[in-house]
Amino acid sequence: MSSSSFTTRLAQELGLIKEQNLQRQLRCVEKITGAEVVIYGKKLWNFSSNDYLGLANHPALQEAAGRAMRDFGFGATASRLVCGTTSEHAKLEEAIAEAKQTEAALCFSTGYAASSGVLPILMGRGDVVLLDKLAHASLVDGARQSKATLRVFRHNDTNQVEEQLQWARKRSPHGTIMMITESIFSMDGDVAPLQKIVELKERYDALLLLDEAHAIGVRGKPRNRMGGLAGELGLSKKVDLQMGTLGKAVGAAGGYIAGSRQLIDYLLHRARSFVFSTAPPPAVAAAARAGLAIINSEEGEARAEQLWKNIASFQSKIGQSHSAEGAILPILLGEEKISLAAAKHLWEQGFYIPAIRYPTVPRGGARLRVTLSSVHTELILEQLSQAISQFASSELTSSSF
Ligand SMILES: *Cc1c(COP(=O)(O)O)cnc(C)c1O
Repeated sequence: MSSSSFTTRLAQELGLIKEQNLQRQLRCVEKITGAEVVIYGKKLWNFSSNDYLGLANHPALQEAAGRAMRDFGFGATASRLVCGTTSEHAKLEEAIAEAKQTEAALCFSTGYAASSGVLPILMGRGDVVLLDKLAHASLVDGARQSKATLRVFRHNDTNQVEEQLQWARKRSPHGTIMMITESIFSMDGDVAPLQKIVELKERYDALLLLDEAHAIGVRGKPRNRMGGLAGELGLSKKVDLQMGTLGKAVGAAGGYIAGSRQLIDYLLHRARSFVFSTAPPPAVAAAARAGLAIINSEEGEARAEQLWKNIASFQSKIGQSHSAEGAILPILLGEEKISLAAAKHLWEQGFYIPAIRYPTVPRGGARLRVTLSSVHTELILEQLSQAISQFASSELTSSSF
């Protein structure tokens, strides 16, 4: 293709994106203090981050990062398998394994790198991957890059999962079957029927990868909310691969897989996103360990309790009658255009809540995704609910509001 037809193709594609109200822009955040962000000089209450416990701004994480920077410098400068593994990485992995009740854990630069790196090397020809329809893009990409057969089941539909398990067992009696789901779903905020999924996994001798990105810090046993939903339900030992990110409630960055020593040994030899990538900076690992320590402390518990109070309070203010399973409260609007108008209205009122559109959610499934944090105050929640009802009563909305 000549460079001029390439330019024309990009222009056409971008034109199409705009026509469908799917254009995106990078908004540059100039400052963040707790629940407040400054964007283009405008102060906004932030309801868009996944910093559920307000740890991204916690002084303990900054101090831990500072100490590690003094000991190791900033960049790790090499892959983990060369000279990139520092005592900070090792201690972080020990702490994750302990919180997850597994023999071992392995950290990656991001959660995306963890799931997309691990699936292609674990699952091969003759194996079957069963994936929830709403599973995160990193899981979909990892599953697609593997040579295994991929089956997608309707969201949280365990009857269909069972049918697919029967089919998979018949088709490859000796192959590996892996079920993949999230504990709290990132765009719908609902919870997987984990107990039932574990039962099925055992009955059909399958493996389970559970992505706890939005559950750690939020769900779990008191003072071990790093345990996530698996920890809360006492199922940690039944989940073969416990996956998650250190970039959301933990307040730092990175991804992890926790599991058996044998699994982790295999991953560190083979996972391409681990082997062929520079180690995360030691300061980032140190900050993540500090975040994890807070989550599993008295202070973290107080923050989580405050978060759950905020969730209940906000739900009652906006008239949602079901009890939320986590800190993600989507307000479904359907049309892209209405979602954009709602986001704009809220922006003008001083709230940052972006419209979530295709391809993050299915077409026609546009929504506002409100994420709550322990640092939101009652007053801010009240003001937000008023701004939402103002928009709901304006002419633009559909009945779905
Ligand atoms: C954010 C997210 C990831 C990716 O983690 P990163 O560390 O941000 O790359 C994976 N799975 C789910 C469900 C997520 O929400």
